[in-house]
Amino acid sequence: VKWADGVGWHDAQLVPYAPLSIDPANMTLHYGQAIFEGLKAYHRPDGGVATFRPEENAKRFQASARRLAMPELPVETFIEACDALVRQDRAWVPTSGEASLYLRPFMFATEAGMGVRPAKEYLFVVIASPAGAYFAGGVKPVSVWISEEYVRAAPGGTGAAKCAGNYAASLVAQAQAAEKGCDQVVWLDAVERRWIEEMGGMNLYFVYGNRIVTPELTGSLLPGITRASLLRIAEDLGYEVAEGRISVDDWRSANADGSLTEVFACGTAAVITPVGSVKSARGDWTIGDGGPGEVTMRLRQALLDIQTGAADDTYGWMHRLG
Ligand code: PMP
Repeated sequence: VKWADGVGWHDAQLVPYAPLSIDPANMTLHYGQAIFEGLKAYHRPDGGVATFRPEENAKRFQASARRLAMPELPVETFIEACDALVRQDRAWVPTSGEASLYLRPFMFATEAGMGVRPAKEYLFVVIASPAGAYFAGGVKPVSVWISEEYVRAAPGGTGAAKCAGNYAASLVAQAQAAEKGCDQVVWLDAVERRWIEEMGGMNLYFVYGNRIVTPELTGSLLPGITRASLLRIAEDLGYEVAEGRISVDDWRSANADGSLTEVFACGTAAVITPVGSVKSARGDWTIGDGGPGEVTMRLRQALLDIQTGAADDTYGWMHRLG
């Protein structure tokens, strides 16, 4: 679907996968107006297909567009485009359990021009790719490196938007985490370099027995849809759930005194990943016995059951398309 100043959204097309040709003066290449989303289509036990909360992705896409001075795509157009692609690629929706068809909606400026200002032409595209079960050989906890040198986002910046530049800025820290022997980087707030924000492409949850806390949305972390869904599920399963502030020192001391029992990360790709161990400039520690915790696995199963259709969709989160 295209957008042009004075014309609005027009020319929706379903076309075979093919390269796009880009003008060397394409404004995205120079000024970075590029946003995206990620969501999954799951096979249902009755033979149908459904996507998980696509209207939430559509709304976050609009919020990202506003932050980058791009046009807002109507929620219905976003969902219709995803639906059309899933129907077309129906044969590519895996029929086994946790596997899915991953959808990647994105928008970028197509105008060729020099000078920093919002472009006057954009293209919205959705592509798809089958995604296997994230943990094929059993759920494996990740190790994390807490970055104090680099920050992902600062107050007033683009951290709450799902824009390409945020990910470009994260690459050196991810490489640094790998150098330390860790799987993922954990980000701190930009001002005090003290408060835990999120991990790589996932939000974080801290489990203290029956109490579960996730970092509050400060404006510099991404409001994850999995994060929001788990706030509901965990509460309905009887946990005491809160959004709050957790510092690196809180994490380390609560882990040492045993009050912190589990930590996990959540996002569309892996649904829920246990965090097993931490490395940081302030020391290294292991969470619990380093293995997946009970609460983590219970919440993971509860969410996956809704997504795969093993449990009733009591929240009305699954968008059925046949
Ligand atoms: N944080 C970041 C930086 C991400 O890229 C993602 C993945 N979209 C998330 C958190 C998790 O968000 P969601 O649950 O909507 O996939």
